[in-house]
Amino acid sequence: MVKLAEWRGKELFRKYGIPLPKGQVARSADEAVRAVTSGAVPLPCVVKAQVLAGGRGKGGAVRFANTAEEVRAAAEGILALEFKGERVKELLLEGKVAIARELYVSLALDRSARLPVLIASGQGGVEIESVDDAAIDRQLVDPFPGLAAYERRRAARALGLSGPAAKALDGLLVALWELFQREDAELVEINPLAVVGDGLIALDAKVIIEDDAAFRHPEYAEIRDDRTPLEEIAREKEIAFVQLDGNIGVIANGAGITMATLDVLKEFGGNPGVFLDLGGTDDPRKVTEAFLLMARARPKAVLLNIFGGVTRCDTVAKGLVEAMTQVPASERFPLIARIRGNNEKEGIEILRAAGVASVPDLKSCAQAAVAAAAGGRP
Ligand code: GDP
Ligand code: MN
Repeated sequence: MVKLAEWRGKELFRKYGIPLPKGQVARSADEAVRAVTSGAVPLPCVVKAQVLAGGRGKGGAVRFANTAEEVRAAAEGILALEFKGERVKELLLEGKVAIARELYVSLALDRSARLPVLIASGQGGVEIESVDDAAIDRQLVDPFPGLAAYERRRAARALGLSGPAAKALDGLLVALWELFQREDAELVEINPLAVVGDGLIALDAKVIIEDDAAFRHPEYAEIRDDRTPLEEIAREKEIAFVQLDGNIGVIANGAGITMATLDVLKEFGGNPGVFLDLGGTDDPRKVTEAFLLMARARPKAVLLNIFGGVTRCDTVAKGLVEAMTQVPASERFPLIARIRGNNEKEGIEILRAAGVASVPDLKSCAQAAVAAAAGGRP
């Protein structure tokens, strides 16, 4: 997922002609002061932390300044913040706008409908999750004809806009749709969209580029820091592999059993560090690759929890045993296994021959994994 900072989102807004306040990015208090003394940003202005988390307004990460001195104080204050765990390194300064009303507009993907959805609300400026459903207008958009004129008119009505402001919204929505499509976005959100006189100005920008289209956007390569190097390799090999902070590895098949296994480990005081979802993999080579990747994450212990349905237990066991022979001795870890279901007996036999016992109940498995990770014997 490529989540763009506000200023990057606004660069896209500018490219597509969505109206914005005059602004500039600064990376130090000196730069912030220069932004206003040079006239690039008019006073009074807004100084905003460029972090990915929302709720900056409430959290003191959006401040107003009337003079260059106030800009310095605001910039220094915000640059010293660690906002929801993220150090503030960049600021966006913009001329302050006199807001008549704050609206909410976004285009997102409705995954259950498998369609884009246009969301509009007259209650902007607060998180959309906290807005009463009755105050939110949602329209699914057929992507082939694109956002239609009648849909744009309905949004204007929902926002209580008429005359020139409704016309401004129409043009803005055309641009927003263009951006959403051409930039492969899965979310483009303007909150607040400010009503200023007869016009509209986007005061905030949240843009997320669809993960599966990210390869078409090398321009974001250097800000894609949301995947660990191992997760990157896993992605290339089409292996579902996620790294967390803990020290116990989990190998399971299917999202449900994987999550349940993580929960059970937590329940017994364990700390899952990495998990691998084999899904319906029925290819021993892929199981081997996945297991080797797991080894590289250096877990203290690994809990294997397989329910053989589509995946046969013996296939998984074969892949695992093959992989175990390839893991260097220095990187070996205690393996606690639970395999049940299709071809269970054969699978257990293959594992036993390789020195891995399969424990039938998950509770004992989890306790053994937690003990092993803590340095005890599995
Ligand atoms: P968020 O809280 O992280 O979503 O940050 P926003 O960019 O949405 O800013 C939070 C709030 O600051 C907005 O809802 C506005 O009420 C206020 N704000 C931002 N820019 C301006 C501005 O130019 N003028 C005024 N009056 N308020 C602003
Ligand atoms: Mn906002």
